[in-house]
Amino acid sequence: MSETTPRPAPSAGSGHGPATGPRRVLGLLVAVALVAGGVAYTVEQREQDARARAAATQVTTPAPPPPKSTKQTRAAAAIAARRVAIDTILIRRAQAVQAGNEALFLTDVDPANKQLRAEQKILFANLVEIGFSEIGFSQAEERFNPAVLQAHGSTTYLVRILMRYQIPAVDFTPVTTELGYTFVARGGRWLLTADDELDEDLGPGAHREAWDLGRIEVQRGPRVLVVVEKGDTRRGRAIVRETTEGLEQVLAYWPRKWTGSVFVIALDETEVRDARFADEDIESAASTGTTFSSLPGQDTADGTVAGGYVVINPNERDRVDEILLSHELTHVATADLGGYEPLWLAEGVAEYVSWSGIEAIGGGSEVAKWEQEVIDDAVPQMTSLPSDAGFYQNSADVYGVSWLAVRYLAQRIGLAKVEELYADMAMNGIDQAARDRILLSRTGLTEATLWTSLTTYEPQR
Ligand SMILES: [Zn+2]
Repeated sequence: MSETTPRPAPSAGSGHGPATGPRRVLGLLVAVALVAGGVAYTVEQREQDARARAAATQVTTPAPPPPKSTKQTRAAAAIAARRVAIDTILIRRAQAVQAGNEALFLTDVDPANKQLRAEQKILFANLVEIGFSEIGFSQAEERFNPAVLQAHGSTTYLVRILMRYQIPAVDFTPVTTELGYTFVARGGRWLLTADDELDEDLGPGAHREAWDLGRIEVQRGPRVLVVVEKGDTRRGRAIVRETTEGLEQVLAYWPRKWTGSVFVIALDETEVRDARFADEDIESAASTGTTFSSLPGQDTADGTVAGGYVVINPNERDRVDEILLSHELTHVATADLGGYEPLWLAEGVAEYVSWSGIEAIGGGSEVAKWEQEVIDDAVPQMTSLPSDAGFYQNSADVYGVSWLAVRYLAQRIGLAKVEELYADMAMNGIDQAARDRILLSRTGLTEATLWTSLTTYEPQR
């Protein structure tokens, strides 16, 4: 999970909800576009009619100068017409993906921009390969950038775009990601002429989804989708096998009945979504980043967490095994609960599942030894449970201590009750007061007394 609430980059979960058919959503978009166009037309028409009537009754007097508002009305009409035109293009692009029609996808891409057209062909092939059950694009707000305006001329329209999609079995509910598109009007029509000029102003990981970064290949297992570079088939299949085993461990050692599929991205890229492995401070082999059904700031400040995708550090692609993946997959299999749980609980539970896998293959003494090291070495260096703030920058063994806290709770109240505690925290732990209330009511402990318990904890062996 990662650092913000709800969860940022290095670890997170998955989602659920009623599936809305792609066709139905497309239908709604078309309807909205038609209504918007209709309104614009009607207003303009009404005004013209009124002027025509006025002119007809004023045959003998010179026509008055046009009302001051005419210019503004024309501008508003132009904006409305542009909105309809761009909506139509966006709908066409989504339909092209659904129909597997590359020519249709490229229809509105600037013929003069050869590089963009080449990139869009790759994007199209990737989108088709993912196999979305739903995909749609809509206009958010216009953005203004003098450099972009200067580069493309007076018709430049830079707009933030929301891409809403659903990967079957992976996304329990449609999720949203954002993009920035630059359109220009040329020869009486609108053309997409750039897709990266707003990237720096978008949220973390925007326009760096698995399909945005080069030609990909998807390898599939019954509950696993792995994305690798095109042609990296062997590695893709190996990661499918390790992920499948990792998922079996999560289902064996964590009581929640999670029914989803996992999406694992293993590209030769240090920055995919909000995973930033190029950062020297981040040594993790993989991270789980959140998906949102509603982005932060879209409807609420926090957004609505839908689930999580795993991203593997490019340098670790040959070393990931089911033990490491079971940690990340625990985040995935809990992410759709809401993402408000404290990080010590999220990371502690992920470590708990991972170490349970080691215990099960005869590593019991290794686990006991490690637990004792955490008690003897890590706990004395800290004065409280690790807080969310700075968790991933903390040089102390915050993972070990978090794991110990979950081991302690499992021994005290049983694993089933720890799972219930987790679910309650993830759904309702929106601030410290709520977290304190939930922890106290479900365990009889506060974070302070839980910490004190860890300092005197003697595991039963
Ligand atoms: Zn984690």
